[in-house]
Amino acid sequence: MLSNLNSGHSQQAKFNLVQVKGTWIRQPEQSQLAEGKLSDAEISQNKSENGLLWTVVSPIIFSYRVIQCRNILDPGNDTLLWGHLGDEELKGTLSNSKPLRRFVVIDETVNHLYGSQVAQYFKARKTVCKILPLPTTEENKGLELVTRILEQVHEFGIDRRSEPIIAIGGGVCLDVVGLAASLYRRRTPYIRVPTTLLSYVDASVGAKTGVNFAGGKNKLGSYVPPVATFLDRSFFQTLPPRQISNGMAEMLKMALMKHRGLFELLEAEGRKLLHTKLQSCESNNDVSEHEDCATASTRIAIETMLEELAPNLWEDDLDRLVDFGHLISPELEMCVLPALLHGEAVNIDMAFMVYVAHQRGLLTADEKERIVQCMLGLELPVWHQDCTLALVQKSLRERVKHSGGSVRMPLPTGLGQAEIFHDMIEDNILHQAYQKWTDELSDSGNK
Ligand code: NAD
Repeated sequence: MLSNLNSGHSQQAKFNLVQVKGTWIRQPEQSQLAEGKLSDAEISQNKSENGLLWTVVSPIIFSYRVIQCRNILDPGNDTLLWGHLGDEELKGTLSNSKPLRRFVVIDETVNHLYGSQVAQYFKARKTVCKILPLPTTEENKGLELVTRILEQVHEFGIDRRSEPIIAIGGGVCLDVVGLAASLYRRRTPYIRVPTTLLSYVDASVGAKTGVNFAGGKNKLGSYVPPVATFLDRSFFQTLPPRQISNGMAEMLKMALMKHRGLFELLEAEGRKLLHTKLQSCESNNDVSEHEDCATASTRIAIETMLEELAPNLWEDDLDRLVDFGHLISPELEMCVLPALLHGEAVNIDMAFMVYVAHQRGLLTADEKERIVQCMLGLELPVWHQDCTLALVQKSLRERVKHSGGSVRMPLPTGLGQAEIFHDMIEDNILHQAYQKWTDELSDSGNK
């Protein structure tokens, strides 16, 4: 049927769209265009004896800001209120005499620690504010939370053009609020304020929102980026050390895939970064001249992540370096839940893949050893008893199924460089890598 539809059409005409006096009109591609606003969209039309076929191409541009800042909850800091706006938009908004209003969703634990500062901030800025604390845990990461947010947003009544919803919390909170915002009135702007390291370097900078569904991780979601993400490392001061290591795994992923300098930084300073919870020392305020390792490592992690995400926001291209560590880990994470945090499962996956890369001749023994030592320095697990060969094989099969039938496997080919491989790992390589990995690391514990 479909092939008939297409093959039956012979004559094609392409049209531009021009807005003249408020009306959009089609103009043949080759013609002299009327004076007016030209759209990026185009319509092509095919005609045959069967009828007409119109094809609409409508490029949609998303633009969002990722801002590193300090003291975001200081009432003297404009970022939380205005950071999502460019200079021109801000001028327009400030000339408006409407009272300021914001709807804030905050993770319950974060509310306990920072809720009064958030309330104080908006009070000092004379902003009418509704703060909704929610238990945004992985176990609760479902549609019910989304509905709760939507009901409260509706009751509060926001102006979707000028009153972005603000999410403050870890990756779960940001994902859930993002999904609610993408549903409310089809797309309401929202802002992400990550408070965990993992959400700072990963969940907050891309476009994905989501909740778990039907037993599957992030099975429901959307690709709708926030209007802005505000990154303030001071939230990490209250994180347990394990949560810092957890986020470090995603930083290490970017280092292994594309930035040798970041790898060397984590290798040399990893323990110190953990110990200081990535805080900069106060005397070192001039970050432009003397960038300390906490500032440098988080900046590089964000920059490398944005480089990979921006051209592929909708994940149309399945060849993604950022998938390193995410081939076996989803299966492992769900299988042992809640024993492993996301970054921990990712690290176990990465450690195994480093052995595969070595077995394939892509990494030297020295490079492999340096990577493993770096992981241990970051206090990340490098092996897990439930990561069996059967689980590895099943995960790889699943992966092929979900990648349109072909293999797409990012593997390191040196320190800070990688390639995507499209051939399946040979059975003997997989077995040998698994055996060596187990022999060498099974008693590593959390050294
Ligand atoms: P999380 O949101 O569950 O937070 C971890 C824990 O830290 C929670 O108990 C939370 O209450 C607590 N917490 C948060 N901030 C704190 C602070 N400043 N001080 C003390 N405690 C604090 O977990 P996470 O690791 O931030 O995020 C994991 C989630 O992110 C997963 O659901 C994953 O699917 C998602 N994720 C999404 C993307 C994406 O692109 N959208 C990327 C990676 C991960």
